[in-house]
Amino acid sequence: MALRVKALESLLVEKGLVDPAALDVMIDAYENRIGPRNGARVVARAWTDPDYKARLMKDATSAIAEFGYSGAQGEHMVVVENTPAVHNLVVCTLCSCYPWPVLGLPPVWYKSSAYRSRAVIDPRGVLAEFGLAVPDEVAVRVWDSTAEIRYLVLPERPAGTDGLDAEALAALVSRDAMVGVAKVPGLTP
Ligand code: FE
Repeated sequence: MALRVKALESLLVEKGLVDPAALDVMIDAYENRIGPRNGARVVARAWTDPDYKARLMKDATSAIAEFGYSGAQGEHMVVVENTPAVHNLVVCTLCSCYPWPVLGLPPVWYKSSAYRSRAVIDPRGVLAEFGLAVPDEVAVRVWDSTAEIRYLVLPERPAGTDGLDAEALAALVSRDAMVGVAKVPGLTP
């Protein structure tokens, strides 16, 4: 795959269709500037600002755009909330649709056929392999992303974080927690 991409890139550059410097800027943007830290800020704001959370649950695309996070692969966002009774898991069974503006580029496992098929067939088994045991009394909901709709999980705010401000809270929120394959861990003293 890497060789195929290289070959394509060389050809496009040779034909003058793309500027390698522009490609570098885009890659840098998605690898460094745009990434899960964006989503973590959205989550932390929802945890600390009930009005924001209400907007986020009602119209995630607009609420996320309040941070300036918008554009390709984030045009139609839906936020699904984890609660003590419900755990949400996001997948794209067809390919690798993923909310780029808030999570950056998808990890390799998200694109793997094993994850894409098994997340819907046996979500609890997949979560267990990620180290997350979901108790039987907690419902697991699986959301299949498409070219139209991208999902972001709003994880549960961990206990013991009452004194933290939004910035400190955001530092606790991992990419995996926003895809739904992990929880946000509590604070370890
Ligand atoms: Fe897809």
